[in-house]
Amino acid sequence: MIVVTGYGKTYQDVTAVSGLSFTVEPGQVLGLVGPNGAGKTTTIRAITGIIPPTEGALTICGHDIVADPIKARQQLAYIPDDPQLFDLLTVYEHLMFSARVYGLNSAELEERGDRLLSRFELLDKRDTPASDLSRGMRQKVAISCAYLHEPKAILFDEPLTGLDPQAIRNLKNSIRERATAGASVMISSHLLSLVEDLCTHILILDKGRRRFFGSLQELRTEYSSAESLEEVFFQATGMTEAAVLASGEDQNTAVATPPPRVPETESGDAVEPPQ
Ligand code: ATP
Repeated sequence: MIVVTGYGKTYQDVTAVSGLSFTVEPGQVLGLVGPNGAGKTTTIRAITGIIPPTEGALTICGHDIVADPIKARQQLAYIPDDPQLFDLLTVYEHLMFSARVYGLNSAELEERGDRLLSRFELLDKRDTPASDLSRGMRQKVAISCAYLHEPKAILFDEPLTGLDPQAIRNLKNSIRERATAGASVMISSHLLSLVEDLCTHILILDKGRRRFFGSLQELRTEYSSAESLEEVFFQATGMTEAAVLASGEDQNTAVATPPPRVPETESGDAVEPPQ
C-alpha cells in the first residue's frame, strides 16, 4: 500500500506540490494525470525516495520512505520514462544485479528471470550488452528488473514510451496481473486512453494541487456532464480543448509550460538498482 499524507515539495522558490494526500490500496491501479509541470514526476520521485519531501509523509507498506528507506524500497519498484541501464552489462547480468540487490536466491532468479525475459520477448537478447539494445528493449529490461523481486508497490512514469504493440499488450496484462496479486500500482501518463483502460482510480494534479482523487466510478459521478476522461481532464484543470489544439500539442498532452528546471541538488546518494 502507498500512503501519501500532506506531501509538499518546494524547489528554491518554486512550489511544485502542496498539501497532497492519497492512498493506493493493494489491488488498485492509480492513474496520475495532469498538465506539464503539474507535479507528477515530483510526486512519484518523492515516493521512491529520490527527492526528499519538504513536508508531509510518504509510506510504502507501512515504511516511511525518509525514516526507513531500505525497508520501504524493498517493497518498491520504479520504472522511470528514461531507464538508466549499465551499458557494459548484458540483459541477464542486469537481472542478476537486481536479484543481488533484492536478496533473491539463484533458483528465484532463474525461474522468474526466464519467465520475464520470455514475456517481454528478450530471450534472444539475454547475452546482449545494454549498449546494443533499442530504446524499447531497454525499457523492457527495466520493467523485467523492476518485476523481479515481486514488489508490493510499483510506480511507472510514462510506461509505454518506446514499446511496440505486442510489448504494450504484455505490459498492460502484466500490470493487471500484479495488481490482482495484491500490488499497489501507480502510473503517471499523458495517455488518457491508457489510464482509462488500466486504472481503477485517478488522481488529477494541476499546479501542484489535487483536483480530483477517487475511483473511475466516482470520477464519472462528479463529472457527469463529461463524455470522456479527456473532457474531465479539461474541466478539472480549467483548460479548454481549443487551447490544446491551438498549441499544436497532441490532444493527449497538456499545454501548461513549466518554468525552466534548475539542476537537482537533493538527490540521495543511495545506489539504485538498474531501471
Ligand atoms: P511533465 O508532465 O511535464 O513531466 P510533471 O507534472 O511531471 O510535468 P514536475 O516535473 O513534477 O511536473 O514539475 C513540477 C514543477 O516543479 C514545475 O514547475 C517544474 O518546473 C518544477 N521543478 C521540477 N523539478 C525541478 C527542479 N529540479 N528544480 C526546480 N524546479 C523544478
